[in-house]
Amino acid sequence: MNESIKQIYPEAGISRHAALPITDQFERTFNYLRIAINEQCNLRCIYCMPEKGIDFREQHQLLTTDEIFQLIIIISQMGVSKIRFTGGEPLLRNDLLELIHIVNETKNVDSIHLTTNGLLLGKYVKSLKDAGLSGINISLDTLNPEKFYSITRRDGLDLVLDGFEKANQSGISSIKVNVVVMRDFNNDELLDFIQLTKENDVTVRFIELMPFDYHQIWKTGKFYRAEQIVSDLKKQVDGLVPVNGSRTEHHVFRKNGYKGKVAIIPSYTRNLCGECNRIRITADGKLMNCLYSQNETNLRDAMRSGTSDEEIGSLIRDAMMKKHKDGWDAQDQGNDNRESMTQIGG
Ligand code: SAM
Ligand code: SF4
Repeated sequence: MNESIKQIYPEAGISRHAALPITDQFERTFNYLRIAINEQCNLRCIYCMPEKGIDFREQHQLLTTDEIFQLIIIISQMGVSKIRFTGGEPLLRNDLLELIHIVNETKNVDSIHLTTNGLLLGKYVKSLKDAGLSGINISLDTLNPEKFYSITRRDGLDLVLDGFEKANQSGISSIKVNVVVMRDFNNDELLDFIQLTKENDVTVRFIELMPFDYHQIWKTGKFYRAEQIVSDLKKQVDGLVPVNGSRTEHHVFRKNGYKGKVAIIPSYTRNLCGECNRIRITADGKLMNCLYSQNETNLRDAMRSGTSDEEIGSLIRDAMMKKHKDGWDAQDQGNDNRESMTQIGG
């Protein structure tokens, strides 16, 4: 544990006024932070990064452990109670366990989650649970080893499945599998993925492809609409019963007799923006008030130039107040300057 952090931030650094919940002009309240902690990755998913990688930022440009913790302390005092670490591949960052451990002791934080490609999950899941992790989303687009190689440009399906098994045995309460559904790639695997929910209390989430990749794979006819996935499922699977899910899970079902759930996420069609409760911070410390936003607020430089916690809180509040009504409006403003989801934090 980094004792210096606890000494610097033993308690709230902002006033009661600054600690009001973060809201916007459309009466949304933001209580969920997704923070990318790196850009580097041990896979090269074709819809995310080119084979040679991207122009990764240098270490000194990324947030340090102390800066991440400083932001979480500030934001947790403003009503944010759910934290997700993402990336890049967050399990490649060697202070992840320390971060989870410290955040777990942070007042007001109710749950800590991780989004991972699962390659290193088997190795770390016990330590993650011990550090206080509440939930894991594992990204896995196919159950076929050759197809796994063709989508990630690396081997490793067996490692991801081992990570999935161990996560299920770990006692971590929320385990989800994120599947980006692509036409003529894996839209024929819906039933195979649903089988994962038979014996495991997990949620398999079918997600739309989004236009955030360098090569614009999504323009090549691979996009598969959420409504099409729902229609396929209803045709192909008997005994699907609607059940409740999280905010972004548009349609949620359980197959009769199965332990887990199946959800569909319309991440491209964006018909859930009215429900949005998310704040995003990139690995280089820029706040994005929407996944599709073209504007960023540089919290890293503000912290590095000695801006007070109270003023950082105001920067966060002001940026979220300017959030557009939906992702379509957000996309229409300015120029997109990020070439991969690893730079946004998926
Ligand atoms: N490396 C980790 C992983 O893969 O889970 C965390 C970061 S990754 C950017 C987070 C999520 O973004 C993954 O589930 C991935 O499938 C998704 N993603 C990346 N690029 C995408 C795209 N163009 N469209 C849809 N989802 C995408
Ligand atoms: Fe890596 Fe995740 Fe991007 Fe795949 S989606 S290349 S695993 S960051």
